[in-house]
Amino acid sequence: MPRPRVIVVGSINTDLVVVGERLPAPGETVSGGRFSQHGGGKGANAAVAAARLGAAVTMVGAVGSDAFGDEALELLEREGIETGGVARTEAPTGVALINVDAGGENQIAVASGANQQVEAAAVERAVRDAGPGVVLTNHEIPLAARLAAARAARGPVVLNPAPAGEITDELLALGPILTPNAGEAAELTGEQDPAAAAAVLAARTGAPTLVTLGARGALCARKVSDTFLAAAPQVTPVDTTGAGDAFNGALAVALAEGRRLRDAVTFAVAVAALSTRAEGAREGMPRRDEVGA
Ligand code: ADP
Repeated sequence: MPRPRVIVVGSINTDLVVVGERLPAPGETVSGGRFSQHGGGKGANAAVAAARLGAAVTMVGAVGSDAFGDEALELLEREGIETGGVARTEAPTGVALINVDAGGENQIAVASGANQQVEAAAVERAVRDAGPGVVLTNHEIPLAARLAAARAARGPVVLNPAPAGEITDELLALGPILTPNAGEAAELTGEQDPAAAAAVLAARTGAPTLVTLGARGALCARKVSDTFLAAAPQVTPVDTTGAGDAFNGALAVALAEGRRLRDAVTFAVAVAALSTRAEGAREGMPRRDEVGA
């Protein structure tokens, strides 16, 4: 069987994390924290998840012409991800400044930088060059770029509408599989009930919508009367950062393998649950052989 191909058109960030006793108040300096730097961005995290599961992964996006950009590309290449479709821009690499307190509460400031300069024409070219495969995109890049990705796709499109933000009829008409979490589903539809929100979105795309529900797993709606819940396996989570990214990466791989929807969602919730067992968004992303077990 040829390797499943996944083309991720999305965000690439550097996460700069300080874990301290407490979060600083406005105007305050809190010293004594522990610093760490991680590869981040929903797109790049999902690309790593897909690569660890054995897919041939192409990353399309943008980083700055700076040291964070060099490092971000190196981290992706080390996972075997094709990065020829990642542009270098004048804008700096996207950065998330993350403060975490002793209780795990956080405070995050994001400067999207290069991610906001992902160009539609470049996306179209890169997606076409990558050939047939599942295209995975998200809301951390401009609307025009994700629209170009969906248009150029030769295969199913998965759109993770995170953060919720703008979603247009033009994009929905291309029939993407949407994967909001419960909060995003409510924001996009005004429906607080995830099943109702999923049905509304599925009706707008004419394709399945999957609403992720944290420890409960994910709900799938094809239409109003046709929904099912894929329960998450029970784990003791250490850090759920990046669980949604693991879910999306795994879903894309399973669809690229030609698996049926129910199988694909079951696989994605299993991978996402496993990803929560280590600290950091990428550290816990499981390899293929860990998933079966
Ligand atoms: P996001 O991280 O994007 O907010 P969710 O919290 O819904 O999204 O998590 C995405 C997926 O990760 C869930 O559908 C589930 O499969 C898995 N997951 C998240 N938290 C847990 C948990 N505590 N136990 C098991 N699986 C989890």
